Amino acid sequence: MKIFNEQHQMFRATVRSFVEKEIMPHVEEWETAGQMPRWIWPRMGELGLLGVEYDEKYGGGGSDFLTSAILHEECARSRSGSFAMAVGVHCDMASPHLYWTGSEALKEKYLPAMCRGEALTAIAVTEPGGGSDVAAIRTRAVRDGDHYVINGSKMFITNGATADVFFLAARVEAGSEGKRHQGISVFLVERTTPGFTVSRTLDKMGMRASDTAELSFQDMRVPVENLLGREGVGFYEVMRVFQRERLVAGLHAVAMADRAVADTIAYVRERQAFGGPLSDKQVIRHKLADLATQIEAGRWLTYAACAKFAAGEDCVREISMVKLFTAEMVNRVAYDCVQLHGGYGYMREYAVERFARDARLMTIGGGTSEIMRDIIAKAILP
Ligand SMILES: Cc1cc2nc3c(=O)[nH]c(=O)nc-3n(C[C@H](O)[C@H](O)[C@H](O)COP(=O)(O)OP(=O)(O)OC[C@H]3O[C@@H](n4cnc5c(N)ncnc54)[C@H](O)[C@@H]3O)c2cc1C
Repeated sequence: MKIFNEQHQMFRATVRSFVEKEIMPHVEEWETAGQMPRWIWPRMGELGLLGVEYDEKYGGGGSDFLTSAILHEECARSRSGSFAMAVGVHCDMASPHLYWTGSEALKEKYLPAMCRGEALTAIAVTEPGGGSDVAAIRTRAVRDGDHYVINGSKMFITNGATADVFFLAARVEAGSEGKRHQGISVFLVERTTPGFTVSRTLDKMGMRASDTAELSFQDMRVPVENLLGREGVGFYEVMRVFQRERLVAGLHAVAMADRAVADTIAYVRERQAFGGPLSDKQVIRHKLADLATQIEAGRWLTYAACAKFAAGEDCVREISMVKLFTAEMVNRVAYDCVQLHGGYGYMREYAVERFARDARLMTIGGGTSEIMRDIIAKAILP
């Protein structure tokens, strides 16, 4: 079954060549440094890899969701979960808030720089007090003339220390009993706004080249025209963009797992034990057969949901299944690939060690496995 056409394949070749030549040689160095250099963004902009679905009048590529899907698969093949995540956040988790909900004036002002890679974006929903329960957001936005005054804080924000533009979810009205989902809005906030502070950069288990920050806002005045969509509908906008984010997470998980199994196959072919290569042992061959089968199941579950999403169909149930299945799958693959590398699998010098740490985020970020099970259960047991 084919879901990608010839144009998609040409785009894939462009991204693959960029990732192999310009990203992969630097992955180790960026992991050690705990950051990625700024040049990757304008370079990706130059190659037309940012804003692939956005209208050409804003500097976008005018392509479809499957083109975005290819971008994320190829970025995740880089052996750097950090790079894939940073690109995923900019292209499909943060900036879509502007493209799909922002006013024409905001789009004209900000989108071209986002597509050129001159303005990096982040999405700030999670708070120190909780992430799964989005309706419990406590950051407050109070209208004062032609501004909103925002006070509060956000936690675990990817690209948080380096982004130029943030999409920030804040409460404009107290949520009364039974109406907790109402009263939340999303604002576009420039990092240079007085009152905006990066409180700290967080030290993490994996995804170490991606910056993750805690942010705080003190009497931060944001112009009313930076409100995205109507006041009070932000919860639903966040949930809408989450669908895209979770599909991207599925694409990442499958591509990361694919790469790790390919690396593991190369390793077991090379490694000798008991008079021959490990790849000759039936137990090892069967383990790899199981992993390849799980990856294939994840790939086609993801592609089926991508096709529905691209067609504009309602697919919250399917996307939640993708996020749940692929996040759990990539962690099983990580466990087994480390095991098949023996002691070397535990060593920093082997990419599979980083893969196992990066993969661990997949059942947590963008909606945990428990929350995915809740959504699926609601859909099948209404
Ligand atoms: C590296 C990293 C990058 C991130 N990037 C971003 C970002 O860019 N922007 C952003 O806004 N957020 C980001 N997040 C936050 C992420 O989305 C949240 O961590 C996630 O949604 C879980 O929220 P929490 O950490 O507050 O856990 P909690 O909500 O406190 O949950 C803790 C545990 O309880 C479980 N739980 C919670 N509620 C229930 C329930 N009703 N039933 C059963 N179990 C439940 C959860 O599944 C989890 O296992 C990032 C997180 C990390 C670690």
